[in-house]
Amino acid sequence: MEGVLLVDATTVRAWIEQAGHDVRENKDHLTHLDSAIGDADHGVNMVRGFDAVLVALDEKSPATPGEVLTTVGGTLISKVGGAAGPLYGTAFRRAGKAMGTEPDVSAELLGTALQAALDGVTGLGAAAEGDKTMIDALAPAVRAYQQALAAGAPLGTPLPAAANAPAAGAEATIPMQALKGRASYLGPRSVGHQDPGATSTALLLAALASAVGGSPE
Ligand code: ADP
Ligand code: MG
Repeated sequence: MEGVLLVDATTVRAWIEQAGHDVRENKDHLTHLDSAIGDADHGVNMVRGFDAVLVALDEKSPATPGEVLTTVGGTLISKVGGAAGPLYGTAFRRAGKAMGTEPDVSAELLGTALQAALDGVTGLGAAAEGDKTMIDALAPAVRAYQQALAAGAPLGTPLPAAANAPAAGAEATIPMQALKGRASYLGPRSVGHQDPGATSTALLLAALASAVGGSPE
């Protein structure tokens, strides 16, 4: 069934709209997590970013999946300050660039785009797995996706197989000590709290799995 999945611009937009909805629903939760080990703005930052993203998508009506994601990335970079804006912005831009001008993205190309997003975040933020950041949700998700793809994913998409990895990755940040970002200023006092960025990454990837994984063509 390899290569059966095809993701078009409409599906990618449906993902981003779902992500915006989920970020809004979880605004207080994300801010609460950031109040324990940061400056209590992660929920506000993410909602501001995704509200601007939805406006930009309406204005631009991008025609390809790649163009949708580069629009998302550019908007997050310009509208969201702090650490998360540039990091998420870079992730979406890199993913969009990796998709090129393909009107229909295959499961393989989606895997390449996810890897490009991860490389963008590590390139900019220099965090590794275990540092208690969004990488702890993103890296296991990319790995699970690639493994499911290599194993010949059922229903033509590796996303359901990879769907639990980001949430598990976010939860795994609880016992970690933060080594990057604002939370690292707390040193050992950052232990015992779930990382807000890993939590929002898990939300974004769950929205991707429900938008894309639910309807293999
Ligand atoms: P700020 O820390 O500037 O207030 P946010 O609160 O919006 O920005 O985002 C914080 C999140 O950003 C953290 O929970 C963490 O997941 C992520 N983060 C911070 N620094 C890095 C980094 N160097 N690499 C990857 N992610 C990072
Ligand atoms: Mg913050």
